Amino acid sequence: MRGWCKSFAILSVVALGACAPAAATGGPRSDAGDSATGQSPPPNIILLIGDGAGLAYWSAAKLAGDSLAIERMPVAGLVDTRGSDYPRLVDSAAGATAFASGVRSYNGAIGVGVRCRELMRADSAAVMRDPASCDPLPSFFDLARERGMSTGLITTTNITDATPAAFASHVPDRSMQAEVAQQYIRKGIDVLMGGGRDFFDGTARADGRDLLVDLCQRAVCLSNAEEFNAYRPDDRSVVGLFAPRLMPAAAEREPSLAMMTRAALAKLSRNPAGFVLMVEEEGTDEAGHHNWPLPQLLDEVRSLNAATEVALAFAQTHPNTLVIVVADHETGGLTLKRDADTLAVAYSTTGHTHEMVPLFAAGPGAERFGGVKENWEIGRLLMDVVRAEQPKQ
Ligand SMILES: [Zn+2]
Repeated sequence: MRGWCKSFAILSVVALGACAPAAATGGPRSDAGDSATGQSPPPNIILLIGDGAGLAYWSAAKLAGDSLAIERMPVAGLVDTRGSDYPRLVDSAAGATAFASGVRSYNGAIGVGVRCRELMRADSAAVMRDPASCDPLPSFFDLARERGMSTGLITTTNITDATPAAFASHVPDRSMQAEVAQQYIRKGIDVLMGGGRDFFDGTARADGRDLLVDLCQRAVCLSNAEEFNAYRPDDRSVVGLFAPRLMPAAAEREPSLAMMTRAALAKLSRNPAGFVLMVEEEGTDEAGHHNWPLPQLLDEVRSLNAATEVALAFAQTHPNTLVIVVADHETGGLTLKRDADTLAVAYSTTGHTHEMVPLFAAGPGAERFGGVKENWEIGRLLMDVVRAEQPKQ
């Protein structure tokens, strides 16, 4: 790590993109790979998560006549989404932790293992003094950072909410979003975009600490669509917090998930060592929880689809890019039915369900993700991809 990069890290600010390549593996690799080992460099990873978006969500858009990005992805599979609390229904925290770290954990766990819950029961005060030490599970984001790759998180809810948080922080419970914000800054995530400004803003945080003061001196901070539209990527990290909490539904959302994805890719692809990016559409989960009618449900699926289109277009011009589209669980027990000779929706619950969810993959190594998998296996495979390892037999 170069001196000035090191001092930035010590100052607990978002690390500059320029610092990223000088990591454990000794700097950026070219696309030609490591000539000493003959290993090819790990591909970029774009992981799109439609929160709650089970098979019926995609089916609804297809039956509505939409042309779907997933139809052009050559590999499909199914994912068993249960967490370690099964038969309790899995939540987004356990779901994302499995994808991020390759380990099945408990509901509410953010990047931590099942032992963390025992540690909390034994001495919660001790855990709270250093939440990141509570049986932390390394994620493929952590591995990517060690390899000098850039990292990015995008969502349409709080950027500190369970799904993004599990990739780049470690806390015993998903409610600890103020702590998640601090861990992001300590780690130096290169791209953060979504809602959840309240967890960075001193006037809204319970501890009164304003994380934005330091952060925005060193990273590009964006807070509305106008600033977003004027953004031009440079070596600095970018933090776009466009709502105090959850961003509006897809029809009113600015910037859109697809626009955020495009901007993130423009920024992350500046790093010759590559990147990992997680993109979450939360609106599909909202649709399921609130049993939204078909038109509003379709808006959210179309938002996810549009972001997937952006990812696939990027992969066309950057072939060393693996694109995966998956859900953390199904929400709503969505059923597609006929109502007065038109397509209609029905729901069996306002909660999550145990149904397996679809996975779609394209790009180098995509075939490893096909077939029927458990959620934690997806995380293991993503770890292998970042390590540029062949799958274990
Ligand atoms: Zn949910």
